[in-house]
Amino acid sequence: PVYRLKDALSYEYSAIVKKAFAHIESNNGLVDNVPELFRNKYRLVSKMRAYKNMHFPNDYEDIKQATRYLKYEELLSYALTLLLNREKMQDDNSGVAKKVDRESINKFIDSLPYKLTNDQYNASMEIVKDIESSSNMYRLLQGDVGSGKTVVSAIALLSIASASYQGALMAPTDILAHQHYATISKMYEGLNVKVALLVSSMSNKEKKEIKEQIREGNIDIVIGTHAIIQDDVEFKSLGLVIIDEQHRFGVMQRNKLRKKGDNVDFLLMSATPIPRTLAISVYGDMDISTLHEFPGGIRDVETRLEDSSKLEECLGELEGMLSSGSKMYVVCPLIDGSEKSVKATYEMLNEYYIDRYKVYFVHGKLSGEEKEDIIRRFNEESDAKVLVSTTVIEVGIDIKDADIMLLLGAERFGLAAIHQLRGRIGRHGKKGVFIMFSDDKDDNDRLRFMINCNDGFEIARFDLQKRGPGDVVGSRQSGMVELRNASIIDDVKILEVAREDAKYILRNRDNEDFKRILDYAMDAYKSSSLSID
Ligand code: ADP
Ligand code: MG
Repeated sequence: PVYRLKDALSYEYSAIVKKAFAHIESNNGLVDNVPELFRNKYRLVSKMRAYKNMHFPNDYEDIKQATRYLKYEELLSYALTLLLNREKMQDDNSGVAKKVDRESINKFIDSLPYKLTNDQYNASMEIVKDIESSSNMYRLLQGDVGSGKTVVSAIALLSIASASYQGALMAPTDILAHQHYATISKMYEGLNVKVALLVSSMSNKEKKEIKEQIREGNIDIVIGTHAIIQDDVEFKSLGLVIIDEQHRFGVMQRNKLRKKGDNVDFLLMSATPIPRTLAISVYGDMDISTLHEFPGGIRDVETRLEDSSKLEECLGELEGMLSSGSKMYVVCPLIDGSEKSVKATYEMLNEYYIDRYKVYFVHGKLSGEEKEDIIRRFNEESDAKVLVSTTVIEVGIDIKDADIMLLLGAERFGLAAIHQLRGRIGRHGKKGVFIMFSDDKDDNDRLRFMINCNDGFEIARFDLQKRGPGDVVGSRQSGMVELRNASIIDDVKILEVAREDAKYILRNRDNEDFKRILDYAMDAYKSSSLSID
């Protein structure tokens, strides 16, 4: 065997492994986790054989057979873990079918100022069906930035209210919670639905009053941030939880909200669409609705990649757009410090535009109120043309005249984040300009890829190949069980087979032969971050 160790160590290690094998063999060998049924079906070697082949192969065929066993064993247990998670999600309730008032939902859809895209309509109906069904919804709504997820969430929330349950929508930032609250309240105008906002920047008195109203059941829909998951927030009859930009929350936080009711339907929303097989591996075995279409057609944003030294030159080029009404975001990777920081860039641009335009800055260290206030002013004041910021503006905000975005230190951002940022501009029928500045623009094929690709799915796929799934979906969200032998990307075919087998095992879980793999998967489940207990 060849170990990744220095020569002498490798020799010693080999001797230790030999001893270990001798010990295991004199103690009845290794017990197979893979049930005989499947071992026979796929003609897999035994676990003992697989390990021996790995350490003392005679030829490459030995290694191949060992790998087949190890990958299958791992993915079978992984698939079982994910299915167990789903079962938990749906089982820890008595399974109440909620009665949605479909007539009022249809009326609401007709009352909207625009016609839903087919994808929006279908996703909404899938959600309504899930709410009506007696098992709990466990669904992911994914759609690129600007695909119109908000109105779908408004339909879902209205459905739950019409069934006389409360609904909650949690967003990762104050700005976004405020925006959802404003948008959704406006959509509900004239309806008999009570919507409340709950964010931590509100005064204690206000919060106390709203919590009281939530507890009494006088509030139908709560829209907020982490403030909603605090222990003292109690619902009278929570029936639906929606998590926007769900990757911003940990599994624990999402579940904490879900656990505030007995029969909670659960909808996660994500603007980082990923291929289905990966989604299942990452989120567990959920149902998925996808918004492919864009309302109002394709957005027109020109993407460029420039050397960092070209910043001033570009500012000159953009003068025309600014003077004819456009506004500009300048996004930086840091708050203070180097020349690419928000503070340094703000100072530079404030100087550059002095006596002509107002320049504002915003970043995550400001309070919710301050951020809010700056963004409002940037939106409303016609001479406020430039907003320097960190990625706090990545999520959600929608400013009509913002057609330009400059991204400094672009190489420091993930592609998904860049795509999200780009989604902030050119949203209202006007052409947008997106310029990434980088010091290593010529050998950065990730950034170059962004120039010609505006499809979130394609970007996710590309990023997956370049960086692997952990990075793409973000480590915080990892409901992921760590895989050692198999890869979710390269071994998708085995995973698909293993999923079917795992379903078969669960359907026949009383079978003695399946006991071992079930225990094994259960242990893995308990120690994974998927566990909801
Ligand atoms: P996201 O999926 O990024 O959360 P939003 O829900 O914020 O997208 O929607 C983006 C914009 O598209 C909003 O301004 C919204 O009013 C608009 N919009 C949503 N659905 C439609 C539609 N069917 N027709 C026209 N405009 C729509
Ligand atoms: Mg959104």
